[in-house]
Amino acid sequence: MSYLTLKNINKIYPNGFHAVHNFNIEIEKGEFIVFVGPSGCGKSTTLRMIAGLEDISSGDFLINDVRANEMGPREREVAMVFQSYALYPQMTVYDNIAFGLTLQGVDEDDIDKKVKDTAKILGLTDYLDRLPRALSGGQRQRVAIGRALVRKVGVFLMDEPLSNLDAKQRVTMRTEIAQIHQETGATTIYVTHDQTEAMTLADRIVVMKDGYVQQIGTPYELYQDPVNVFVAGFIGEPPMNFIRGTVKDGSIAFGEKLLDLSQKLGKDVQKYEGKKIVFGFRPEGAVLGEQDDSYVITCNVELTEMLGDNANVYVNDKDDRAILKVGPHDIPEMDSDLTFSIPYENVYLFDSETEMVIK
Ligand code: ATP
Repeated sequence: MSYLTLKNINKIYPNGFHAVHNFNIEIEKGEFIVFVGPSGCGKSTTLRMIAGLEDISSGDFLINDVRANEMGPREREVAMVFQSYALYPQMTVYDNIAFGLTLQGVDEDDIDKKVKDTAKILGLTDYLDRLPRALSGGQRQRVAIGRALVRKVGVFLMDEPLSNLDAKQRVTMRTEIAQIHQETGATTIYVTHDQTEAMTLADRIVVMKDGYVQQIGTPYELYQDPVNVFVAGFIGEPPMNFIRGTVKDGSIAFGEKLLDLSQKLGKDVQKYEGKKIVFGFRPEGAVLGEQDDSYVITCNVELTEMLGDNANVYVNDKDDRAILKVGPHDIPEMDSDLTFSIPYENVYLFDSETEMVIK
């Protein structure tokens, strides 16, 4: 029995817009699940249906195998952390964290202990007497998390909790959220459009697009075995390189170079003759120089970006472009010719019509 089950969940808004299509997942207790995808793909809508803030149009939502579609938010034992911290500006940090417990009529000594324990986990002990306006963005977000955490609910729902923070604070808070999850073991569902946040936080990631789940898996599974072009391009930074072309004589062209697809497809290559195909490889999936069992390509260096521990090299051959990740001491001259190898095992092929990976 799973803790949370979403079975064929759909959301059709009153204006007729179908925002979520047949969403299915089983979530175990203690898992950290991240919903990721571009703006408008239905992440928040799904989270809000789990929270009980939005009606479920069809399908079943189960908590411990009991249907919960009609349960109110409190009965579901969920706590939500929003993008805007939604703190009470006139209340101290202590009172903000205590607020939910006070409403529930929890005993004052009990509240005091819970607030102080939570503040300790979040590093807020020294700030309990302050008003929210006297805190940094990161500290405010911690108070918002504290307010959810103190209630010791079954599930934490977080909707883009870091999006109001600057880049540095985001990285710090991301680590803190991971630590809090490790300490509390609380089941968490977290929404973001940021693939790095998804990769670093999640036990499992749900990639969504246009209201449809594309793939569910561990960060490694999604990186290593993407099911389609969208997931392959969404997970990984810089994104996977895609060369689109029509198969002719068993090959597709990368600029001047013909890439023999029978190396990847064997005899099946005949099935794709005359068809459009997508040839994908990751920037870190290529190596400089010539190597056996690889596609060897020579390109012109268009641009280089030094990132400190590595560099991105933008190359092209006629209209085909790619990004390569190289070591800091391997950065080529601009406008020079660069030869690189893509080991066959690092190449992904996708059917251009269905966009699905070809196994
Ligand atoms: P974002 O990252 O921008 O928040 P999201 O993936 O969370 O995006 P949702 O907020 O779930 O996306 O919205 C999914 C789709 O449903 C969008 O196209 C949105 O315009 C639409 N939508 C959201 N709320 C309503 C509503 N009340 N009525 C009609 N359509 C809505």
